[in-house]
Amino acid sequence: MVQRQQFLVEAIKVVTWIQQYYQTLEDLPVKSQVKPGEIYRAVDAMTSERPQSVEDFLQLLDDVIIPGMTHWQHPNFHAYFPANSSVESVLAEFVTAALGAQCMIWETSPAAAELEEFVLHQLKGFLSIPDQWEGVIQDTASTATLAAILTAREKATDHTSNFKGVPQGMRIYGSINTHSSIDKAVAISGVGRDNYIKIPVDENGKMVVDALEKAILTDLQEGLKPFCVVATIGTTGTLAVDPISQIGEICRKYDIWLHVDAAYAGTALLLEEYKWMAEGLERADSFVVNPHKWMMVNFDCSLYYVREVNQLIKTFEILPEYLKTSTRGTVNDYRDWGVPLGRRFRALKLWFVIYGMGMDKIKSQLRKHISMTRDLASRLNEVDGLKINIGPILNFFAFSVDWHDKLETNNTLTKTLLDRLNASGVLFASHTTLDGIYLIRMVMGQTYLEEAHVQRAFDAITQEWMDLKQII
Ligand SMILES: *Cc1c(COP(=O)(O)O)cnc(C)c1O
Repeated sequence: MVQRQQFLVEAIKVVTWIQQYYQTLEDLPVKSQVKPGEIYRAVDAMTSERPQSVEDFLQLLDDVIIPGMTHWQHPNFHAYFPANSSVESVLAEFVTAALGAQCMIWETSPAAAELEEFVLHQLKGFLSIPDQWEGVIQDTASTATLAAILTAREKATDHTSNFKGVPQGMRIYGSINTHSSIDKAVAISGVGRDNYIKIPVDENGKMVVDALEKAILTDLQEGLKPFCVVATIGTTGTLAVDPISQIGEICRKYDIWLHVDAAYAGTALLLEEYKWMAEGLERADSFVVNPHKWMMVNFDCSLYYVREVNQLIKTFEILPEYLKTSTRGTVNDYRDWGVPLGRRFRALKLWFVIYGMGMDKIKSQLRKHISMTRDLASRLNEVDGLKINIGPILNFFAFSVDWHDKLETNNTLTKTLLDRLNASGVLFASHTTLDGIYLIRMVMGQTYLEEAHVQRAFDAITQEWMDLKQII
């Protein structure tokens, strides 16, 4: 066991290792190339009974762990949505780990509670979230959405479901493009996944508002109880933006909770030119955005905002004797604002990213990503046999091989192209499908992304495509 007096001596070894990692990161294959079970066996072979030193730990990292990592901080990680990090965020996370505080209530660390309150208040202004709403940090958007659905359920049942169980026939709506975390939350909430109605989308992937209203009316006629709609700003497959304002109008008309899932694209609400995406948000009830995706804060950090915070607290508060405090009611006890009792001090890294980098820097970074994405998409669109099918929207586009008359052949070629790119290690991208077309998704959201990496992606894609053309 290392004594705390030796912290600096040992920490320098680790910090030096991290600096080297940052320097060599771009030479590593972006997607790990290992096979299932390989890492387990290698760890087993390296682990001995004697206490392992920091040197042993670093050896394990170099020999076993790093080859088994997919490098999410590689600038050519273009898959899924990114999980950002930054030097500011990592440094603050060191401190959070060192303080080791469990920030469940105000009294267990007033600074954690009040810094969280402060940063969430500031960000509310930057993101143009209605002024009277209040926010809290959750681990992930999945947890925030679960909190929203549980609160909506309680509000709709006068807070009786928590005691008597969930009544039959409660109905919730989202589009067919809504994230899978909603299916999970619906299941956990006891509402039942059969009561989650998936509304069709238009040619741009947005929820069809008329179809939503029709589904609500049909359910009402059958004596069912519509209680929640989940709208998305930036769907996972294609970054579609549901019409929040119109959906909000319907929700107000039928007294239904509207939850807005902006987990990824919500960060773009910092930019004046994208504020239109949240137009009508004042008609909604709750909102989630993940700074850990595109705001340079390392995983995990998800912001949940809610219009009526009292509804949230009433849903989650349970007050055992050992948690009764004299400050109750005058401060924020965040344990009542979500599922877990124990809470990490996440506000620290969020604060240091915003105020260490400065909001202007964060905004210019987002704009840089957006313009690089447009640039790469238009260059690829010029390549014979490649086609941009979706976007560019924000820092995302999707493309495919468009070479053959037959859709199946093009799909096979696109999939082969993606497999070859990912196996090359130069970049990592993932896929989606639209109307039966297999598409390669490209997201350009890495903290340290530069022109050279965009060029690298362009070269890799065009080279692999040329090689592939030779063999077909
Ligand atoms: C990423 C994402 C989620 C899930 O986020 P977690 O924080 O991993 O739970 C949900 N919805 C959307 C739209 C997303 O982009």
